[in-house]
Amino acid sequence: MVLRGTNQEQARPYNRRIVLECIRNGGPATRGDIAARVGLTVQTVSTIVRELEDQNYLLSVREAPKGRGLPPTTLRLNPDGGYAVGISITPLGVEAALMNLAGDMLGSAARSHAHASPNAAFALIGELVAEMRALRQDGRILGVGLAMPGPFDVQSMSFVGPTTLDGWAGVPVRARLEEVSKLPAFIAADTVAAALGVRLYGEGAGIGQFYYLHFGVGLGGTMMQDGVPVRGAWGNAGEIGHIPLMPGGRLCPCGNAGCLERYLSLDAFSNRPDGQSQAEWVAEVTPIFHSAIQTIENLFDPQAVVLGGIAPGELITDLVATTAVLPSSISARYDRTTPRVIASTGRQSVMRGAAALAVSGVLSPRQEITSSPDRAQKRDPFSNGLAA
Ligand SMILES: [Zn+2]
Repeated sequence: MVLRGTNQEQARPYNRRIVLECIRNGGPATRGDIAARVGLTVQTVSTIVRELEDQNYLLSVREAPKGRGLPPTTLRLNPDGGYAVGISITPLGVEAALMNLAGDMLGSAARSHAHASPNAAFALIGELVAEMRALRQDGRILGVGLAMPGPFDVQSMSFVGPTTLDGWAGVPVRARLEEVSKLPAFIAADTVAAALGVRLYGEGAGIGQFYYLHFGVGLGGTMMQDGVPVRGAWGNAGEIGHIPLMPGGRLCPCGNAGCLERYLSLDAFSNRPDGQSQAEWVAEVTPIFHSAIQTIENLFDPQAVVLGGIAPGELITDLVATTAVLPSSISARYDRTTPRVIASTGRQSVMRGAAALAVSGVLSPRQEITSSPDRAQKRDPFSNGLAA
């Protein structure tokens, strides 16, 4: 998908987003390149660019001269034009990182706290945000993004059981985050945040269609289509952990039996039988893991499945190593240019994606002017001013 601008004066905030996203996704570009890519006049692009340069968000660099005439100037994001704090909360604890506009992580910190209550968690978040802000005392901190496990608003699945934030139902997360951080606050499902991080700064860069499989305390995932997460009617599409893959299998707190994440997740890994090694566990879950990959491929037809998450890198690598030989699916093609399954071992994708949400949310406010709000947008808890 190519984002297109609109040549109407009242559409300036929308066009600003389009121009920024164009540079963020496509890399350094000239005013003419940008105008051609997004369908705006060069004059409109120049006005927006001047504004963004004045505010220090963009840098223009004149290229080395080749032949006669002035070489064009290319525009790039100013890495130190702003910073955002990304936070990941899981049933294990809270982590935070400070990211610049180029996606570089400038520092991170973590606090272990099993199944933190909202009060305990927000106290920790307040401390961590202060620590991260102190890393760039004179810098412009744009906002804070928080990633948390889903699914959301589902009876029997949300905020129930060991892989969720048990007891968090009804907590006004965004308001409390704003209160403790004193910053513009944004929230997302951990799978969506991590998928964005992988797409913007990781193994998903340059892959238009990929399914991001998030190996967390539970198991989730998100289909990324042209850089945009596929969300479904209520924002929970791709939450694969509760697919009942094993008829009559292990009981799940959701009320069903044989759910995928009862077998494939950090929760399942940490509950493996005493004495079972990592290699033995991987061998045991390989058939289930491969069934999950086949299911994802047949449903979404992705260019690749990217396996990442907060699991240790060597566990991700061991699982991906089993996919050298995979059963057939619609993805078993002769003309593939990427492996069917790719490892993403950067555990920081969740925090990067969460920070990226804050950057997008502040710098590129979403303004829907091409479509009227429909049911999906209203029901999706994260559609309001959020996400790529
Ligand atoms: Zn379940």
